[in-house]
Amino acid sequence: MRVYADGRVTLSVPLSWDRKDCEQHLLSREAKIHELLKSISYTPMREEEIERYTHLEEGQSIRIWGVEHPIAHEVRENAKPDAELVDGTIVLTLPENHTDAVRQEALEQLLRRELAEKVEVYRAEAEQKLGVETSGWSIRRMRSRWGSCRWETRRISINLELALHDPSMLEMACIHETAHILAHDHGKKFQSTMDAALPGWREKQKKLNQEGMRLQRWTPANERKFPDRAKNRTH
Ligand SMILES: [Zn+2]
Repeated sequence: MRVYADGRVTLSVPLSWDRKDCEQHLLSREAKIHELLKSISYTPMREEEIERYTHLEEGQSIRIWGVEHPIAHEVRENAKPDAELVDGTIVLTLPENHTDAVRQEALEQLLRRELAEKVEVYRAEAEQKLGVETSGWSIRRMRSRWGSCRWETRRISINLELALHDPSMLEMACIHETAHILAHDHGKKFQSTMDAALPGWREKQKKLNQEGMRLQRWTPANERKFPDRAKNRTH
């Protein structure tokens, strides 16, 4: 069973199960589902909003760093999917017959570059404020968290979705994950560390969770190149 940040729940079940088996299984896990929805950054998102970020059609607009930008497509034969910001427009470079997955791959290139640049700055700030050193940072697509920290190895992951929000949200996430090197859970020590490093972080965290996640229906990267394999997945 998977619970997504947009409130969807998917089940993978044996072929022999019928609808009734699935319903019974879901009902038996109802308490667990509510628990998960409470723990993840769950914000019910308008369907139209999710669709816009999934299809990335020309003429639509999406946010980068909290600012709306219109999308333009530039189609070239056999082009490698990529994107850049040109005079405030997100220009997606696409091969012919592009699919949702290809347009997502194009935008992801731009979001990763934007994030990588700012993460460098906020990483240094977080390390300095907290007096710790991290060992490595990566940008990942995550379904339910804004970041994660492996405190044993001091490696930090940042959710790709943060490129859609105001940069101060990324700053907060970088400090939050770095603080986990000092305090592994969200207990008293973590809270006082955050209070000292970034006053007002609680309101910011709340606002970010309310803004929610928009890339939840993106095709998983490992299925982009083999769309036929994706068809066999249960959703
Ligand atoms: Zn945390």
